[in-house]
Amino acid sequence: MVLAQLGGSISRAIQQMSNATVIDEKALNDCLNEITRALLQSDVQFKLVRDMQTNIKKIVNLDDLAAGHNKRKIIQQAIFNELCKMLDPGKPSFAPKKGKTNVVMFVGLQGSGKTTTCTKYAYYHQKKGWKPALVCADTFRAGAFDQLKQNATKAKIPFYGSYTESDPVKIAVEGVERFKDENCDLIIVDTSGRHKQEASLFEEMRQVSEATRPDLVIFVMDSSIGQAAFDQAQAFKQSVAVGAVIITKMDGHAKGGGALSAVAATKSPVIFIGTGEHMDEFEVFDVKPFVSRLLGMGDLSGFMDKIKEVVPMDQQPELLQKLSEGNFTLRVMYEQFQNLLKMGPIGQVFSMLPGFSADLMPKGHEKEGQAKIKRYMTMMDSMTNQGNTRLPVLELDNSNPKLMNESRMMRIARGSGRPVREVMELFEEYKRIAKAWSNMKGLGKMAKKGDMSS
Ligand code: GDP
Repeated sequence: MVLAQLGGSISRAIQQMSNATVIDEKALNDCLNEITRALLQSDVQFKLVRDMQTNIKKIVNLDDLAAGHNKRKIIQQAIFNELCKMLDPGKPSFAPKKGKTNVVMFVGLQGSGKTTTCTKYAYYHQKKGWKPALVCADTFRAGAFDQLKQNATKAKIPFYGSYTESDPVKIAVEGVERFKDENCDLIIVDTSGRHKQEASLFEEMRQVSEATRPDLVIFVMDSSIGQAAFDQAQAFKQSVAVGAVIITKMDGHAKGGGALSAVAATKSPVIFIGTGEHMDEFEVFDVKPFVSRLLGMGDLSGFMDKIKEVVPMDQQPELLQKLSEGNFTLRVMYEQFQNLLKMGPIGQVFSMLPGFSADLMPKGHEKEGQAKIKRYMTMMDSMTNQGNTRLPVLELDNSNPKLMNESRMMRIARGSGRPVREVMELFEEYKRIAKAWSNMKGLGKMAKKGDMSS
């Protein structure tokens, strides 16, 4: 996943600082320098990084922090808030209103994923009961209309375009009028892209925009754009009234920081991200849960939303309680595995859980991941549910892996018919997740409210 490396580097920097005997000016500076390096390496614009560093230093005044203050938490929170600020322009984008006519125009460079994203956006809304329609005003790229037509047909979304007309403004106006007459409430206009920014592209965009008067202009940007992102986004913003950004190909291995700088350049929020070539590989983008996931803190609010979909109502408060206590027993892990197997598409959900890394469920290998979880659950089924006199701690309710000695592991292996090596692997996995979970102590309630800043 894009930015995974950045997230890892930032988390490591914070961890290193936490390991220092005293958190003094030097430890803080080392940590911030490490984070600065990581952000620059992932192509975030220099000025944004510098501002972020200055702000954190202003907020975290070590001299003013009385002894007993949890400096690590305060610094981590400041880093979290600054990253959020970088990604949040402070005002929401125009929200189309269901049942009214909304015209949304898509702009971006050729190859950014604009046409694919138009259909994903239409499909996303269609599933929520909207009546979308697609207009292909891209007369520059041969095959653009065919591509849109193909996608639209697959998703059963009405479309408009022409093989013969070469004037994009004419097509855009005709398409918008047609779909207004048909009472479509979300009319999406796909415009031409070019290989690079050039005057003719911007002039054409301006004309289409003037003629169709869109309620919202969405700038589509490929996550692999790199350092050029800031200038590119700014150039688009200067030509048309960009109101929102969608970043595509977040499933790739690009550094991704450049695309994030686009928020600052356009002063518009990222509203969705593309996470694959398929129609439903498209996610709503929310700053706080995203940064939380980036820093390996999990996305508890997103996770809780998913939980609400699949966990019976009466069991939800109990799970929430466990979450905010940070007490992660094997039984909790077992229950989470059960929920995860119900949830699907499981890969997406996984990284929302603190400690549940994508390694356990690599994209494209979900089947293997599910099989592994099922194996883990078989082994856990062999653990004692009841305490015994020698070891009164119930195995499944055990949150101290040290109590798991060799003979117990061998018994579990025998009972489940799995090799001891796998039982050991299960415990390693458990220890890792439990550690991440314990860092969440108290954060569960905040994340549920979607407020990590208090
Ligand atoms: P356009 O020229 O900007 O309209 O770009 P297209 O919509 O034709 O997309 C260019 C390529 O990127 C196509 O092969 C798409 O399937 C691919 N693409 C678009 N969005 C994503 C995404 O989120 N992830 C991945 N992996 N590929 C994408």
